Amino acid sequence: MYHNIAIHRALYASDEHQMVRQALIDFLKKEAIPHQEKWEKEKCAPKAFWRKMGEQGFLCMDIPQEYGGGGFDFSFNAMVLEESRRLGIDFGQAVHSDIVAPYILRYGTEAQKQHYLPKMVTGELIGCIGMTEPSAGSDLKSLKTTALDMGDYYLVNGSKTFITNGYVADFVCCAVRTDVGISLLLMDKELEGFTTGQPFDKIGIKYQDTCELFFEDVKVPKDNLLGEEGMGFKYMMADLPRERIGIAVESLGSAIGVLEKTLQYVTERKAFGRSIADFQNTQFKLADCAAEVQVYQAFLDRCIELQMQHQLSTEQASIAKLKATEMHGKLVDECLQLFGGYGFIWEYDVAKAFAGARVSRIYGGTSEIMKLIISRGLFKEFYRAKQKELAFQSNTNTQLNK
Ligand SMILES: Cc1cc2nc3c(=O)[nH]c(=O)nc-3n(C[C@H](O)[C@H](O)[C@H](O)COP(=O)(O)OP(=O)(O)OC[C@H]3O[C@@H](n4cnc5c(N)ncnc54)[C@H](O)[C@@H]3O)c2cc1C
Repeated sequence: MYHNIAIHRALYASDEHQMVRQALIDFLKKEAIPHQEKWEKEKCAPKAFWRKMGEQGFLCMDIPQEYGGGGFDFSFNAMVLEESRRLGIDFGQAVHSDIVAPYILRYGTEAQKQHYLPKMVTGELIGCIGMTEPSAGSDLKSLKTTALDMGDYYLVNGSKTFITNGYVADFVCCAVRTDVGISLLLMDKELEGFTTGQPFDKIGIKYQDTCELFFEDVKVPKDNLLGEEGMGFKYMMADLPRERIGIAVESLGSAIGVLEKTLQYVTERKAFGRSIADFQNTQFKLADCAAEVQVYQAFLDRCIELQMQHQLSTEQASIAKLKATEMHGKLVDECLQLFGGYGFIWEYDVAKAFAGARVSRIYGGTSEIMKLIISRGLFKEFYRAKQKELAFQSNTNTQLNK
């Protein structure tokens, strides 16, 4: 069924990709799909499942072998995200494998890499990223969590909200305000004064746990500073394209999965003595959906290639996230309509996908913030020229007034 919808994916065509993909599908069908209902009630996928994912080599696939990883390229991480979402599985592996692990690999000391990465690969340690605060979401720079320099440790006070994996994680890569600006600290959950709220009751992706983190006089050893002090905001901005292409790819995977299920459903369901698939409306709607999927596959594959060459720009990643998540939302809505009333019932995958799709336009930067980034890129030269002109004018005025 999959190949009827998707175009040939040169990116995922190697024997190794095919082997990994099939192994992942077999694994998720056995170890995740049958347990989803229980995990949804518990609002969290258990640590034991993370360990199994790790044992099979599906976490942090592009971490180099010297740190226990598979040493694969980013296309394998992207394929894991896409395939998982195609099957309707979403437990926060993107945050762990595609945000936190790359931060540590890129900015960590050798001791930090040796401590965290091998265990993140096996799933023994689960990571989360703490940027958002109750009063700082889109406006990340206004975060208030403080880390006071106390000599050999930082004293951290504040809180984070909406943290994916926050409940199940063993540590957070946390954005804090230090004397010289925003910095990143690796904070282990065992530290005294570090507490976690209960997972939020969400309208979708119910077992990808999301919760609050609280810090009250937490003493964080100086060794846990990630990279340089005051560079945290720059690091986060530098790595956001990878997070955003990841979200775009997850949206594509979910859209493909929903389309596959809808194609099957409309051939089985009957009305007025015919299959739903026999109505031209159904055929045209699904033709549109398939066309959207193929167009986005081609575009996202190109973005993945650019990411593999470390050349994906902030603007390109924002375009990918903005457009793929919007396509995802519209496609799932159209497909749900073809399920009639059943599409509104939670046990149907299309209902779960519909609710889950909504957040992709919010987290990782909202659609509005994506538009801000894209438009800033468009007008960069215009504002640069304007600034030069203003500087020239003020210079000339100063000369004339002398
Ligand atoms: C399920 C879930 C998981 C998440 N996981 C994480 C995580 O792991 N780690 C983490 O740090 N955060 C996480 N987040 C937080 C997420 O990144 C933020 O919710 C998001 O960035 C928006 O911030 P906000 O909710 O404070 O909304 P606000 O910033 O308050 O925005 C409210 C509205 O105003 C709009 N807006 C804001 N500024 C502008 C502007 N300048 N121009 C135009 N419109 C604007 C927004 O687009 C939005 O529509 C998660 C959120 C959810 C829901």
